[in-house]
Amino acid sequence: MTRATLTVDLAAIAANWRALDARSADHCETGAVVKANGYGLNAAKVATTLARAGARSFFVAMASEGAMVRKAVGPKADIYVFSGHMAADTLELTEHNLIPLVNSAHQARRHLDTMPGNPFGVQLDSGMNRLGMEAAEFAALKDEIMAAGPRLIMSHLACADEPENPQNAAQLSAFQGMTEGLAVARSLSATGGILLGKAFHFQLTRPGIGLYGGLPFSDSRPVVRLSLPVIQTRNVAPGESVGYGATWIATRPSRIATVAAGYADGLLRAMGGRAYLWAGNIRCPLAGRVSMDLLTVDVTDLAEVPPTLDILGPHQGIDALAEAAGTIGYEILTALGPRYHRVFSGS
Ligand SMILES: *Cc1c(COP(=O)(O)O)cnc(C)c1O
Repeated sequence: MTRATLTVDLAAIAANWRALDARSADHCETGAVVKANGYGLNAAKVATTLARAGARSFFVAMASEGAMVRKAVGPKADIYVFSGHMAADTLELTEHNLIPLVNSAHQARRHLDTMPGNPFGVQLDSGMNRLGMEAAEFAALKDEIMAAGPRLIMSHLACADEPENPQNAAQLSAFQGMTEGLAVARSLSATGGILLGKAFHFQLTRPGIGLYGGLPFSDSRPVVRLSLPVIQTRNVAPGESVGYGATWIATRPSRIATVAAGYADGLLRAMGGRAYLWAGNIRCPLAGRVSMDLLTVDVTDLAEVPPTLDILGPHQGIDALAEAAGTIGYEILTALGPRYHRVFSGS
C-alpha cells in the first residue's frame, strides 16, 4: 500500500442522521448540511446515502456545491444555498433548481428581479452578525418577500454548542420576534441547536457535524478511520534526535516509524508531539514535528510494526485529534487532503 486510506462509514452517517431526526420535535423535518464537499468526505456519497435514508432537504455554502449535490440526489430534493444569490450565481441556481437563502435587501432585490417565480428562502440575522438580514431590513421588505412565497426563513445560532450560554435564548427570541405569525417554514438549528431542545427546532433542522461523528453530538457514531502506511522504520540511540528542529530526543534505545502523511494532508503541524497513532489497541506517540508529507512515530513499545498505523479511528476520533492540535473536529475533517485514497463502507 502506497497511499494513506481514509475510510468513510456511510452507514454511520445515515445512523447519525436518524438519531438526530429521532431527537427532533414531531413534525420537524431533519435536513442535512453537505457543504465543503460533505465536510471533506465527499458530498455526492454523503448526500446519496442520506437521501436513501430519507433526507429531502440539503444545504450547501455555495451554488457550485449545490450543482454537485443536485447531480447526486436527483431532481426532487430541496437544495438550499447559504451564500444566497450572488451576482454570478443566477444561471447556476436556475439550471440546477437550487434555493438561494437571500441574505440582504440587495440579494432579495436581485432574486426577485432576475429569477421571479423561482424558489428562494430568507436568512435573517438573529445576533451572530455574520450572514442574514437585520430586523429592520427584513421588516421593510417583508410584505414583498412574503408575497413572493419564500420556501423557508432561517437564522443561525452562534453559541449552540454551549447550552448554558444566554445568547441561545436571546437569538431564539429575536428570531421569533422577526418571524412570528408568518405563514412559512422556519429553521434555526444546526447540530448544537437540535440538542438544545424542541423550542429551537421549528419546521426544519440543519445538522452538519453531528452527521459526521463530531461534537457537540457526543452520542454520534464515529465515521472516519485514517490509516497511514509505514514507509520505513529505524533504530535511534539515546541522545539522537528525530525530525525538523531536532525537537524530539530519544531517552532510551528507540524505534521510529516514518509514515506517509503530513500537514499537506491536513494533519496539522500544531499536533506535533501531542497526538498519537494507534497500532490496534496500542498507542504510539508522535515523535517530533509534523512534516509536509511525513510523520515520525515512536513505535518502541510495539512487538512488531504493522504495515499501517491509524491516526483517526476508534481510539482517537476527530475531536480528540482536534484537541491535540488546538482546534475543532470541523477543521480536522475539512482539512483532510485530496491525496488520501477514500474508501466508502456501509453504503
Ligand atoms: C455549517 C452550518 C450548519 C451546520 O452546522 P453544524 O454545527 O455542522 O451542525 C447549519 N447552518 C448554517 C447556516 C451553517 O453555516
